[in-house]
Amino acid sequence: MNAPSIESYIPPERLLMGPGPSNMDPRVLSALSRPVVGHLDPGFVAFMDDLKELLRYAFQTKNAMTLPISAPGSAGMELCFVNLVEAGDQVVVCRNGVFGGRMLENVKRTRGLPIIIDDDWGRPVDPNQLEDALKANPDAKLVASVHAETSTGARSDVQTLAGIAHEHDCLIIVDTVTSLGGIPLEVDAWGLDAVYSGSQKCLSCTPGLSPVTFSERALAKVRARREAVQSWFLDLNLLNAYWDDGQNQRSYHHTAPVHTLMALHESLAILAAEGLEAAHARHRAAHEQLRDGLAPLGIEYLVDAEWRLPQLNSVIVPAALQEREAAIRRALLDEDGIEIGAGLGDLAGKIWRIGTMGYTARSENITRLLSALAGRL
Ligand SMILES: *Cc1c(COP(=O)(O)O)cnc(C)c1O
Repeated sequence: MNAPSIESYIPPERLLMGPGPSNMDPRVLSALSRPVVGHLDPGFVAFMDDLKELLRYAFQTKNAMTLPISAPGSAGMELCFVNLVEAGDQVVVCRNGVFGGRMLENVKRTRGLPIIIDDDWGRPVDPNQLEDALKANPDAKLVASVHAETSTGARSDVQTLAGIAHEHDCLIIVDTVTSLGGIPLEVDAWGLDAVYSGSQKCLSCTPGLSPVTFSERALAKVRARREAVQSWFLDLNLLNAYWDDGQNQRSYHHTAPVHTLMALHESLAILAAEGLEAAHARHRAAHEQLRDGLAPLGIEYLVDAEWRLPQLNSVIVPAALQEREAAIRRALLDEDGIEIGAGLGDLAGKIWRIGTMGYTARSENITRLLSALAGRL
């Protein structure tokens, strides 16, 4: 077989205003070109402790079990379900978009018994429905909900959902892939039990890592399992033998992705230096600038103001433009170098999902999108 002659891949410079990934801070990009070290190098082990401390700040938690999984957000989702769900466990899944649907799929594959509560896409999860579902199913053990539904741009009040879950002796699994770093998220104060996130949305890091954090209550359920976790790679106890600093005796589990972890460390250090409140305010300001610039173009929001995610703006494509919807996105990408997201499922062709996440959430980017979009309508 002849060796193929293929050149280096140099991607174009895009302004990433879709549902993720977001643009990276040059500091994070440069972290990716540092030397490689062994993943059990003493210096790297100290670095891992700093990384966990930075993650605890981002999540606002004291949970000892707080670490990044070496795989994307979907793996963090799967980790929560494979560790917490045992065959026959009843799990209430709150579904108001694509990612709630994926949680449901995880419950089925872990041989849990799902109880589904549905809310319209674009609406938050209704706490009253959760209350009713838990009253009707007193044996339920878990509740699962998405904090920031990236498929619709709606936030749900996971603090209230967690309170209801606990009143009914349930633990709650929460998807914070799009919320972490973009809107307030208080893992400890809200009583969230098993939480996963992603590196490439409001943290503006490379795709491919999933920060997770587990409360003591959640760990107790994992320890009390009757059967071993069916996924070897995502078994929290095995992973922790590498990440735990308890006895300072870390053992090989898998070769950690040294560079993506260094990039995450850099992006979390940037977030810590900015401060969570300032980062949230920056996302709000970007959202307000976008909203105010879209209004004169006749573009309105899908989600009620109270539940809108500032970092993921789901806007309704005006009826007169729906036929050209995909062509407009394509022209923005090809000619203006700007990526925005399409609608999913029933919302395909009807909405655009404009991400203002992480490093992308800056005024000059909003101005650039607004002027490009105005020229395409
Ligand atoms: C992006 C996203 C995921 C999946 O993350 P990947 O890194 O793409 O695997 C899960 N949940 C939500 C809400 C997301 O936005």
